[in-house]
Amino acid sequence: MRKFISVFAAILFCPFVFSQTIVVKDPQIEKMVKEVSADSLKSYITKLVSFGTRNTLSTQTDPKRGIAAARQWVLSRFNEFAKQSGGRLTAFIDTTTLQKDGRRVDTTLLLGNVVATLKGTDPGDDRIFIISGHLDNMRTSVMDRTGDAPGADDDGSGTAAVMECARIMCKNSFPATIIFVAVSGEEQGLLGSTYMAEKAKKENRNIEAVLNNDIMGSNNSSETNNVNNNKVRIFSEGLSVLDTGRTLANVRQLGLENDGKTRQLARYVKETGERYVDNLEVVMVYRNDRFLRGGDHTPYVQRGYAAIRITEMNENYYHQHQDVRIENGIQYGDLPEFIDFEYLRKNTCLNLCNLANLAKSPSMPQEVRVETRRLTNFTNLNWKLPKSGKVKGYYVLMRETTSAFWQKKFFTTDTKMDLPYSKDNYFFAVQSVSEDGNESLAVVPTPAGR
Ligand SMILES: [Zn+2]
Repeated sequence: MRKFISVFAAILFCPFVFSQTIVVKDPQIEKMVKEVSADSLKSYITKLVSFGTRNTLSTQTDPKRGIAAARQWVLSRFNEFAKQSGGRLTAFIDTTTLQKDGRRVDTTLLLGNVVATLKGTDPGDDRIFIISGHLDNMRTSVMDRTGDAPGADDDGSGTAAVMECARIMCKNSFPATIIFVAVSGEEQGLLGSTYMAEKAKKENRNIEAVLNNDIMGSNNSSETNNVNNNKVRIFSEGLSVLDTGRTLANVRQLGLENDGKTRQLARYVKETGERYVDNLEVVMVYRNDRFLRGGDHTPYVQRGYAAIRITEMNENYYHQHQDVRIENGIQYGDLPEFIDFEYLRKNTCLNLCNLANLAKSPSMPQEVRVETRRLTNFTNLNWKLPKSGKVKGYYVLMRETTSAFWQKKFFTTDTKMDLPYSKDNYFFAVQSVSEDGNESLAVVPTPAGR
């Protein structure tokens, strides 16, 4: 109560603070977020588990069991959703043939990612936003391709989120393109995502963000009795592989090691997610992934794209990569009964609102510069119009150098801003804003004259 009064007093007596914290939501995104259904997510996971195993090496001839049957079913769902899309959602299985690799592939293998593309409505906008989950799974042994492997959480949860976002979003239109993908071969060594990221790089595709969802539907941990369905983790790396040579020297000199493009994406996802999803705190973890683990965002990160991993707050290792069995009174196995579908609903909403806000936004402002050619106690920023999209204006973001998150936000319709704060003491960035208030990713200024 005391907290409530103090917040109320701050709003009453300090209109400046109020104007800083007011959040305007886009009604179209709010409506889509409300459509995300725990029942729908449960139905997808139930069906995915019914394929017995989805190990990448499993049968590809059985119509009811194994990875091929599972990917055909995901494709059929995408095609069903596409009927509501006015011809903009198209889906196919993108296949490649892999040879034995002496590691986790012991046979010639037809690998297939199920890819659904919701084409953007602006022909001048080449941006692509990707949501990814992995369809394949594993038992205790990753090479065991015959025994049952339910894979409800790893990664039925991520695959279900991808499908639910496709179902809802394809009924709406966005200037930029969104790709919904259920990849294969994750457990065999990130094979499907590596294939996809490499192809995108070769084709020079403008992927601005990848949201990789892997293990995001269970709310408790194996050893500590922690239970939490109000928090979700985002793993992101600070520097980009592209930060080398002169760029790296710049990063070091300006203290930008916490402002690489993937970290900016993580910050954006947190802010947007907490705006649209009630009772969900997005916890940023400053590393690419957990110890001993990998994920499908990594092949993108390694090629210089902004890509994050979204994962539940607590992990239960009795239920991951385990043969289904009872041992010493403990139920092992990745079973649907261990999924908290309300938690998975919120984590799906987190993806949806971010994809929608990004795909509705104008592209990022170009050539963002901070004036550093003379000594002043001001900050003078300027930039150029984004390449695509209708711009209502721009947000200039500001935070102290020790702060993880943006603390102040200034709006302008101009392409420059002069602020009475010293550039030496703060970080700044600029976002383009659409008519509906959708923000682009943030661009950190480079010093003018360099
Ligand atoms: Zn996984």
